[in-house]
Amino acid sequence: MNEWKTRTKLVHAGARRSQYGEMSEAIFVTQGFVYDSAEQAEARFIESGPDEFIYARYGNPTVRMFEERMAAIEGTEDAFATASGMAAVNGALTSMLKAGDHVVAARALFGSCLYVLEILGRFGVEVTLVNGTDLDQWRDAVRDGTKAVFLESVSNPTLEVIDVRSVAEIAHAKGATVIVDNVFATPTFSKAVELGADVVVYSATKHIDGSGRCLGGVVCGPRDYVRKVFEPYLKHTGGAMSPFNAWVMLKGMETLDLRVRQQAANAHAIAEALEGHEKLSRVLFPGLPGHAQHAIAMEQMGAGGTVVSLDVAGGQAGAFRFLNALEIVKISNNLGDAKTIITHPATTTHQRLPPEQRTELGITPGLVRLSVGIEDVDDLLADIRGALASV
Ligand SMILES: *Cc1c(COP(=O)(O)O)cnc(C)c1O
Repeated sequence: MNEWKTRTKLVHAGARRSQYGEMSEAIFVTQGFVYDSAEQAEARFIESGPDEFIYARYGNPTVRMFEERMAAIEGTEDAFATASGMAAVNGALTSMLKAGDHVVAARALFGSCLYVLEILGRFGVEVTLVNGTDLDQWRDAVRDGTKAVFLESVSNPTLEVIDVRSVAEIAHAKGATVIVDNVFATPTFSKAVELGADVVVYSATKHIDGSGRCLGGVVCGPRDYVRKVFEPYLKHTGGAMSPFNAWVMLKGMETLDLRVRQQAANAHAIAEALEGHEKLSRVLFPGLPGHAQHAIAMEQMGAGGTVVSLDVAGGQAGAFRFLNALEIVKISNNLGDAKTIITHPATTTHQRLPPEQRTELGITPGLVRLSVGIEDVDDLLADIRGALASV
């Protein structure tokens, strides 16, 4: 299996078949497992192998298929699935930290990720926030004894690309674990492990499901971290993925590469077509040569990704007129979906932030985040251009 190419792994890796030889992965809707004897139950609680299950909060055959497929794709020794992306982010950090530890994180983070860092602070973990694109700030902040660095490889919603290789070198020189939230890079364009990430976290809710059905998350990393650090924390605190959701994610993975490549091609075409549009003061897309981290994006993803952010003239009023005039593009706050989705971060996903923090992050009143889907790109462009005309 290790020799297989990505698309083959996405369809076949991790599959387990019951005695019936079912073609499509089975959903094992069970929370418990029956033991042949009391001795067998005892032995399994002492140590259970990858094919032996105890309780669905610890593991389940359908969930295990998803974990093995994700580890195969990401190139890590193991993976652990969670109920949501936030259960994965929270668990990845909390499972390895204690009071007095030090963490360095990039400031441009998804709102809930910032909240997790706030919680860590309440429990005595020292958190230093840096501008993730400024390597000098990482060098100054990471010190002897820093336990972890945490970053989104491409930030939400301003699409700054962080140089994972350089940050990993800085972190590893001081012995810190590098945890990368890789949602915007997607498993398709991810080279996070090759670049030096130790632990890669995904919200599977996004591109992995890809059809806006289920919440899910996954933590991919070395076996010692996944089984000895993350698993004990997660299985005792209750953030397990449901078997049904794992099955949806497995089915999503079969078409992940096809979808994400089409989404990225559509996003690129839209960004190129809209650059310089009179109603837009900024078109942010890492795939455009004018993007501040274009070279890094090409090196670490080979593409610009599936999200384009636009700054609409006329601030919030202009952005709202634009959103309300769209017909195909839906107003919602998911991303990575087959359907094209638009969000106004300042009033939704990043509403909780104080205005000065939003300004610091580049979340201006006119900024909108467009998660590009797999529709016909000509239809999308006609919809977007038509709506911009009404601004
Ligand atoms: C959506 C998202 C999350 C959280 O994932 P959920 O599945 O919604 O819990 C974390 N990080 C990033 C970058 C995201 O986009």
